[in-house]
Amino acid sequence: MLTSFFSPASVAVIGASRTPGKVGYDVVRNLVEGGFQGTVVPVNPKAEEVLGLPCAPSVDQVDGPVELAVLCIPSAFVLDAIEQCARKDIHSVIIITAGFKESGAEGAELERQLTEACRRDGIRCIGPNCLGVMSPITGLNASFGATMPGPGRIAFFSQSGALGTAILDACVGEDIGMSRFISYGNKADVDETDLIEALGEDDETDVILGYVESVNDGRKFIDVASRVTRKKPVVILKSGRTSAGARAASSHTGSLAGADTAYEAAFRQCGVFRANTVEEFFDFARVLSGRTLPADNRIAIVTNAGGPGIIATDAVESSLLRMADLAETTVSALTEALPPQANRHNPVDVLGDARADRYRTAFRIVGADPNVSAVLTILTPQTSTEVEETAAAVIEASEATDKPIVATFMGSQSVRPAWRLLDKAGVANFPRPDQAVKAMETLYRYGQWRGGAPSDAPRYAFDDGLIRKTIAGAAERGHTTLAERDARDIAEACGIALPKSVFAADEEAAVEAAGQVGYPVVLKISSDDILHKSDAGGVKVRLADAEAVRTAFRAIMDSARRYKPDARLDGVLVQQMAPSGREVIIGVNRDAQFGPVIMFGLGGIYVEVLKDVTFRVAPLTLRDAREMVSEIRAARILQAFRGDPPADVEALAECLTRVSQLAVEYPELTECDLNPLRVYPEGQGVMAVDVRFGLA
Ligand code: ADP
Ligand code: MG
Repeated sequence: MLTSFFSPASVAVIGASRTPGKVGYDVVRNLVEGGFQGTVVPVNPKAEEVLGLPCAPSVDQVDGPVELAVLCIPSAFVLDAIEQCARKDIHSVIIITAGFKESGAEGAELERQLTEACRRDGIRCIGPNCLGVMSPITGLNASFGATMPGPGRIAFFSQSGALGTAILDACVGEDIGMSRFISYGNKADVDETDLIEALGEDDETDVILGYVESVNDGRKFIDVASRVTRKKPVVILKSGRTSAGARAASSHTGSLAGADTAYEAAFRQCGVFRANTVEEFFDFARVLSGRTLPADNRIAIVTNAGGPGIIATDAVESSLLRMADLAETTVSALTEALPPQANRHNPVDVLGDARADRYRTAFRIVGADPNVSAVLTILTPQTSTEVEETAAAVIEASEATDKPIVATFMGSQSVRPAWRLLDKAGVANFPRPDQAVKAMETLYRYGQWRGGAPSDAPRYAFDDGLIRKTIAGAAERGHTTLAERDARDIAEACGIALPKSVFAADEEAAVEAAGQVGYPVVLKISSDDILHKSDAGGVKVRLADAEAVRTAFRAIMDSARRYKPDARLDGVLVQQMAPSGREVIIGVNRDAQFGPVIMFGLGGIYVEVLKDVTFRVAPLTLRDAREMVSEIRAARILQAFRGDPPADVEALAECLTRVSQLAVEYPELTECDLNPLRVYPEGQGVMAVDVRFGLA
């Protein structure tokens, strides 16, 4: 896939120029000087030759085949050139030319035609408005960027050309090699998902990095990325993390979901690592380029200084990693090998006067311990420290075991040569212990992801007829939110437990309904025009008898009328008192790119204050649902707590997947809040005390 972009036998440069400084000149020069082994044909009707290469007047008049065409002609000529490429049987085209979507309505129309032309002619196109493509592995520099990194196993694609050049420059400066570099600009055809798929199949690439501003097709992205990340790591730097300001939303879920929520959730669900800064980008790349993944989360630290060892230990404790409990045989072997003042327990302190051989011994003993799944080594440059020799010991150790080793050689001036050695040998080194721990945690998370089997979302039998009829009825009445009665019908139709309720239009009916439901009861205002019922004085709970029901009915009607004089009041809902339980919220919101996003969090009236919520893109697997339940800050309230038995987390996870299925299958439902959803002790299920849906 896309191989013609990376290792073509021949490249034509349409718009090749004899004038240094012009893009059409730079591209030819880069092709010639980059070390590319194939044929380069400049195309220019007005020139005989460019950089000593004979020109063709047009691409369809080139003698011999052309596998890849690079276009650097004005945008007005691009469509003609595409037609010529099609005639010449060229299926891969890079369009460097700007003046498309980024330049306004006219350019956008031109780009639309370009996309159409490519689809029609079976041409894959990268760009327009991009830097081009590099393949340091094959020496191909089909771009106008001057600096090409050396060959390596990391591929990088960038929506922004400018950021691309900055990263390329950093790679050259830091001696980081690359397999492929793709600047994909306006993505008229090839987009981030195509690139992830292609690089996933690329044998020259071990780690995929991408800078992305937006994802075109969220669903396709998730499908492809979930597959590729099981083969090799994908790290994405996505701009626009801060939400573009609060939007008007009628549901809790809508107001809690920021512009970036869906990306965050989607990346996590498909095993993509998200970098926040360019620095983090390289940190991820460094550690994920390693040969091995930890089998478990138990880490051992070998250090020549106490302080940094403690900093690292603290970082471990607040991560997913755990400090390994060294085996007795390990401790006694260390006792024998190390000076008496050394700490033979984790973190192992080989002391400030440790030379390389003492580190070497410690690595050998600790690395062989079955309780240890990864090693972090720390070095501070002290008087007798052998910096480079110790780096060599780290490299040897890392080559000798299948347990990952990450290094922290602290300082700058005297440890810099060691950094280079470690880098060259592919051992990740980080200046700070906490960075190293974070990197190791990344490796662990990636190992868990790789090892986990992909699973499918469950599918439940819903009462489809009832759901459709209810939605159609509300739509006919022109409503954008569903009345509680309708909302309840829908929830019930998808198997979500609700307190028993009966609608009552007047006081007498309410008393009769209460008899049916059974005391004590709850009365709630029923009106399409009142969204937050408590705010309108529209909810009365714990009504013990007929008298209380009558009083409550009148009070509710009075305050609702005062709250919203023009509201149409249908009556009340007489409801069974739901037993008290732990209150959570489940919600649905829709994202332009990723579709329905499911929210879970701590429920009740303080939802928006506490903001203890988490998101996933639907459809949810049961594993996604369980993860959501376990990752909110207040997750502990669902465990055995102050004499309460553990909550029915399985029923809760199932409810999440039911809501997810509803959101996927009925796009007319724009938003949803189940708040509060009460969770009862294990085996006793959940109950949605209040349900609310928004309608398109
Ligand atoms: P709204 O959110 O529109 O104000 P709710 O239906 O959520 O209205 O009711 C407000 C609060 O009243 C709920 O958060 C819950 O604490 C309590 N409540 C409502 N219905 C019941 C019920 N059937 N059983 C027990 N408590 C209830
Ligand atoms: Mg509520």
